Amino acid sequence: MLQPFACDPTASRGRRHPEPSAPTRSEYQRDRDRIVHSTAFRRLVYKTQVFLNHEGDLFRTRLTHSLEVAQLGRSIARTLGLNEDLVEAIALAHDLGHTPFGHAGQDALNECLRVADPSSGGFEHNLQSLRVVDFLEERYPDFDGLNLTFETREGVLKHCSLRHAERLVVAEPQGVGRRFLDRTQPSLEAQLCNLADEIAYNAHDVDDGVRSGLINMEQLQDLALFARFRQQAIAQHPGLAGRRLLFESIRRMLSAQVYDVLDATGAALREAGPSHVDEVRAAPALVRFSPAMARESVELKNFLRTNLYRHPQVVATTDHAKQVIHDLFLAYQKDPGEWALARREVRLRDIADYIAGMTDRFAMREHERLTGRRLFD
Ligand code: MG
Repeated sequence: MLQPFACDPTASRGRRHPEPSAPTRSEYQRDRDRIVHSTAFRRLVYKTQVFLNHEGDLFRTRLTHSLEVAQLGRSIARTLGLNEDLVEAIALAHDLGHTPFGHAGQDALNECLRVADPSSGGFEHNLQSLRVVDFLEERYPDFDGLNLTFETREGVLKHCSLRHAERLVVAEPQGVGRRFLDRTQPSLEAQLCNLADEIAYNAHDVDDGVRSGLINMEQLQDLALFARFRQQAIAQHPGLAGRRLLFESIRRMLSAQVYDVLDATGAALREAGPSHVDEVRAAPALVRFSPAMARESVELKNFLRTNLYRHPQVVATTDHAKQVIHDLFLAYQKDPGEWALARREVRLRDIADYIAGMTDRFAMREHERLTGRRLFD
């Protein structure tokens, strides 16, 4: 049952290239299906979330992360009466623009572009996700990209600087860049994906962090949010320890966060009383944690930044990753090689698109081929 404030696929703002509707699927189901069949989606399986893909088979990758975001998002959407298909489409597409090697790769590529051409606007993964679905996928005879609906694209572009938004608006005056200039919100489905993303990575990075041995259960005791659910788990299952205790604590934490979002968002919706998605867009952000959970979530995020993302071992691989991206960029500037043969000219942006599309392992192999050096083993 869709609530009146949910996105209704029959009232979509449509696609950039008009297409007849599908006989059996809604517009958002169709978006989801196009994303699942895209090349960029399959590449997510070999792209880093936090741990480099070759460091272990059980760590999250961009693909499993995206599936977890979709699961959390759908489950919350169903209870709130939001459009599950739209949530799923946005969740599965939200990380399509990530470079190999996670944020290290993005930072390096951004620097390469800015140094080579200060007016290039650099590289940003959210904008790149939009670029992938709007231009870079080559699947249809009549247009570039996947030609997704406005609502899915709106959710994919979750952040955007004013400068980038201005550029987008020049090309598409009422498009998805507009809200950053007007300072309005996206649909509830898009807001939900944002929060589900945060809930997902906070939880799975605790799991992967402990699995990697870079953080341990004792450190996690300093975190109010985690400690509470660990105590609960032990109280109800005396003797629970090790991996199962970790999983049970994370499971309880995840579920408490989901219920918190349901309660806080339900209350915000009752108070604001939107009767249409346009009223949602004009209101302040309505999908939210309670203030207490928001604080604890920030605490968890800070903990992970200090103890995991900035762990010397993670930083060491980060430095190698940056080197790979820099070397590739430089090499393709000198001689783009085979991938660019069919092009009349090769712009810096083409090089950035090509590198951004690589999986971790392809980038490593290509780096070794071009430089004769092997930075990872
Ligand atoms: Mg994400």
